[in-house]
Parts: sequence; C-alpha cells; structure tokens
Amino acid sequence: MQVPKKIYFKTFGCRTNQFDTQVMISKLKEFELCDDEQCSDIVVVNSCTVTNGADSSVRNYISSMKRKNPNAKVILAGCGSHSKGESLFEEKKVFGVIGHSEKEKINEILKQEKPFYQIGDLTHIDSTIVEEFVGKSRAFIKIQEGCSFRCSYCIIPSVRGDARSHKEADILAQVEKLASNGFGEFILTGTNVGSYGQDRGSSMAKLLKKMSTVRGVRRIRIGSLEPIQIDDEFKELLCEPWMAKHLHIALQHTSDKMLKLMNRRNTFAADLKLFHEIAQKGYALGTDYIVGHPGEDDKEWAEAIDRVEQLPLTHIHAFTYSKRDNTPSATMKPEVRGDTAKSRHKELTALVQAKNYEFRCTYRQNLEVLLENGKNGIYHGFDQYFNKIEVKSDEDLSSNWMLLNDVEVGNEGNKIQILS
Ligand code: SF4
Repeated sequence: MQVPKKIYFKTFGCRTNQFDTQVMISKLKEFELCDDEQCSDIVVVNSCTVTNGADSSVRNYISSMKRKNPNAKVILAGCGSHSKGESLFEEKKVFGVIGHSEKEKINEILKQEKPFYQIGDLTHIDSTIVEEFVGKSRAFIKIQEGCSFRCSYCIIPSVRGDARSHKEADILAQVEKLASNGFGEFILTGTNVGSYGQDRGSSMAKLLKKMSTVRGVRRIRIGSLEPIQIDDEFKELLCEPWMAKHLHIALQHTSDKMLKLMNRRNTFAADLKLFHEIAQKGYALGTDYIVGHPGEDDKEWAEAIDRVEQLPLTHIHAFTYSKRDNTPSATMKPEVRGDTAKSRHKELTALVQAKNYEFRCTYRQNLEVLLENGKNGIYHGFDQYFNKIEVKSDEDLSSNWMLLNDVEVGNEGNKIQILS
C-alpha cells in the first residue's frame, strides 16, 4: 500500500481564511494532515493579500520553505493566489496555485504530478458551510462570501468577488444540528455579513427570525454590519431576547471628507442618528475605524475625534492605514506619517476604552454570560454586551450560562467571585 503524502497548512490573515483552511482539510481524502512543515511533502499556503505587508509575509514564508524543506511542493491558495499567484507561478516560486473556487477540489488537484495554475472564478460559493467552535457552546457560522462595496483602500472585492450568500436551508439545517448538540450561541460571519440574502431575495432579518425559532438557539451575534444595512425590518428585531445586545457596525471614519475619499456609503450625520437610536435600546456598539488614510490632515482628525466623542461607542477595532497596491487609496496624497497615525490610533482607542469603562459601570446587573472552559477555578466569558468577564469559582462552570449581578468593574474587564 502506498504511504499517503503529508500535507501542512499555513494560514495567513482573517477568520474567513481560517474557515477556508477548514474547508480544504475537510475535503482531503488520500493525504495525511501533518503539523510540522519540515517533514511534510506538500505545504499549502492559504495566503492573505490585504496590505502590501501581508504580501511580503507570504512571499517571505514561501522563500523560507526553500531552506526549511526544499523537497516540499509549495502550493499557493487564498486571496494571494488572485493577486500574486500568476507572478509567483511564473517565477516558479510555487508548484501550484489554487483559487478560491477550487478549494473543494483540493484532493484531486493535489494528486497532479505536474505544476498547475487553477485559479477558477470569483462567483462560486462553497457547498461546505463551515463552523468553528469555541468551547462546547459557541459556534461561528460563515453565511456568505465576498463583498460588492468598493471601499477605496480595500482589495477584498477583487480577490474574493462580489457578495453571495449560502442557501438559507443549508444554514438552518446546520444550526439545527448544532443546537441539538448543545450549542446555544451562534455568531454569523462572512466577508460582508450584512449583505446576506440580497442575492437570494432574502435578508439578514429574515434569516435571524428563522434561526431564532430553532429549538436550543439562545443568543445570536452578527460579526459585523454596515450602517446602511440596518433597515426597519432589522430594527424591529432589536428588542428580541435572543439578539445579543451588542452590534458591531463598521463606520471606518467619522469625517465626511474621509468617508468620501474612502468611497464609503455611510455619512456621519446618519451614523450618529443610527447609533443613538440603537444605544437607546440598551445596546453596546462597536466599530471598525481606519486612522492615517491619505488625506487625513490635522483639521480632519480634530473633527473626526470630536465626532467619535459624540458617538455612544463601547468597542473599537482601530487599524492604522496600510497601503495596498492596485487600490485607489494607494495613489492618494498627502500620505500621513507613520508616527502621526500611531498617535491618532492611541488617542482613539483610549477614548473608546474610557467609554467602555463608563458603559460597564452602568451595566453591572443582569449580565447573561456564557462561560468557556476554565482552568484552576478561573473562567472567562462574554456578556450580552460583548464585555469580557472573569469568574472565579470552585465549581466546574465550563460552558455554563450564568446570570450575574454586581460585578466588579476593572480597567480591563469585569470580574466576579462565586462563593459555593
Ligand atoms: S465593505 Fe469595504 S472594507 Fe469591507 S470588505 Fe467590502 S470593500 Fe472591503
């Protein structure tokens, strides 16, 4: 009998890429998964191309394999195969290239003895719906792929294609299966999650309503939404008990000049109104924010930070702008100095951290927490507002839902000791 070839997966980038690696692994039949790149026969590099820096990391890793394991066949997959695949293949830096739509055929593709370039298309949607589990009770489910927005700084639409959704029936079947196995919290993810359903005559709100009727589904979180995706149908769900009381709404900036340069579809006046409307319903609100994009001069920044102050924000993912060739932003001027961007990043995160602290001081009661597996009597989990909590207890509380009151509010997060 032939010994199966060993495959090592190296994954760069975001959660979507981690999911894609899982899709590939689930399709391998005649190969053996290996956790050491130095003894594998094949190395699949599931690459990220979101910034120029991400491209260099992938390129460096591929070159390092020539030293570490010169006999291994290096295969490029992921977003980088759509931006750099052709040149790396022509330069013979990689043995093969697999595009996004080809992932599910990986078992057959890897059996080829000759170099291959199978880039496929950007309209395909995998038939495998991937889930990822945190502990025994939280599941991430990827419900859509791609993005039809064209933000100036972003390369994603050209490497992942336009938005397309998984079939509702497949998602619900998956949720039913997991809920009957004890999963209570579901987190919906994708490249532009809020665009779910537009290509299928459905919507995020319709999916949420159906999911909520599945027995065992206790809480649903949505990875991220765009402000313009929050319509009346969605707003009607805000008071439902199964909605996590935290929404992540990607603003990216609060200066109208910057939003325009970034080719965003939101405006600050509308964002401000929306955020206050949702916060009034007792929601914590998070956002993504890019600092240091070209054109962000001192005047714009002063206005932007003043506007952040006006927003009822509780969480922030702040990114320092990083150049991506072949995007409109890459040629915009004037660029912002690295140290300026860094200090703006610091100012912004400190401001939102202070807002988060204030929020946690107000919301100390009736916290519904799902705990993950603990160690030495210490458990961690998130409440409905997506604030982290540490629970100390002698009892085994792994994967337990708890209702907590009078938690201690610390700088980094909440805490409580449960006496048995
Ligand atoms: S919404 Fe904008 S930033 Fe987000 S993936 Fe789409 S193009 Fe990129």
